[in-house]
Amino acid sequence: MLQRKDRRKGQTILVAGGAGFVGSHLCDALLSQGHKVICLDNFLTGSLANVAPLRNHPGFTLIEHDVCDWLEMSEPVDQIYNLACAASPPAYQADPVHTMMTCVKGTGNLLTLAEQNGARLLLASTSEVYGDPEVHPQPEDYRGNVNCTGPRACYDEGKRAAEALCFDMLRTGRVDARVARIFNTYGPRMQPKDGRIISNLIVQALSGKSLTIYGTGEQTRSFCFVSDLVAGLIALMQIDPNPEVPVNLGNPGEFSINELAGLVKDEIPECKGLVYRPLPQDDPKRRRPNIDRAQSLLNWSPKVPLHDGLRQTIDWFEQTLPTHPASRAK
Ligand code: NAD
Ligand code: UDP
Repeated sequence: MLQRKDRRKGQTILVAGGAGFVGSHLCDALLSQGHKVICLDNFLTGSLANVAPLRNHPGFTLIEHDVCDWLEMSEPVDQIYNLACAASPPAYQADPVHTMMTCVKGTGNLLTLAEQNGARLLLASTSEVYGDPEVHPQPEDYRGNVNCTGPRACYDEGKRAAEALCFDMLRTGRVDARVARIFNTYGPRMQPKDGRIISNLIVQALSGKSLTIYGTGEQTRSFCFVSDLVAGLIALMQIDPNPEVPVNLGNPGEFSINELAGLVKDEIPECKGLVYRPLPQDDPKRRRPNIDRAQSLLNWSPKVPLHDGLRQTIDWFEQTLPTHPASRAK
């Protein structure tokens, strides 16, 4: 496999899904490290506003493109981050066939591009590969409990197939591929109508609406602030030699959805009470990463406590939600 030297500076980096929530923060970080960034996105769930401040940066290029279609690049690339895929359950279930194709065909196209360029590729995989886990917390060698015919399968099985493609390309010596298994991540630039728990609760609270809790609210998740995740993704892309195993990236603090709603209520006094709605099918009951591997391989662990990250996210929504007085005052 072709290899280019020194991955820490002056590289040309393709970020697929770069106009999304995580992708736009990754573009910011890579540009600030002195790399050239080519952001590729079909704007399915991403937003031009996320990358608008970068449009005049000399190192930044934006290409509107769907990864399911082959892309002819006009310049060589050194690294490819594949973040292209809707991450919110309502968004990825809206067109499940396209989600599956994005994961499989999209990752296949980007791996071929990486092979042609001798580039490294990092896949943004997910804790959803563990499904509704029977092992807790989840280490990387747990093989998961996924319903392969349910409504979440387009995403869960799509990412599992994308992981398999990456490891096949790695094993056959064709691409230096790496796989990050990302646990629930939150922060500024989540779309208000994205449908994920943290954006839903904050937007509802700031709009004076009741907080929607699905099921009993006793199910748990572990929430990682976006700056911590981006640091982990870059560390995994840069590490030498290739660890040749998937790496969990997430914050091991575990909270029930009721506890999370309580934290949001404490921060946003104008919010109304809680309203309980049916639990979606196959909703995982518990989720928490075992991050021993990321700590030992990458010397990485998350730094931002949930309370601080929530405050930053609330501040951002206050400034950007058109219905909020703080944004109207601007
Ligand atoms: P997001 O929906 O904000 O970003 C995804 C981006 O990919 C969007 O800009 C979207 O327009 C783009 N996209 C979707 N399908 C595409 C296609 N076919 N071609 C080109 N672009 C396409 O989600 P996010 O939270 O930023 O997640 C980024 C990545 O990280 C995703 O791959 C997701 O599976 C993974 N991930 C995220 C989380 C999380 O909690 N944020 C957790 C696990 C995994
Ligand atoms: N959830 C909720 N209310 C909402 C949105 C989500 O109670 O308005 C629940 C959802 O059922 C799940 C948890 O919060 O148990 C996390 O959901 P999210 O969609 O953020 O991520 P995922 O299920 O993919 O972890």
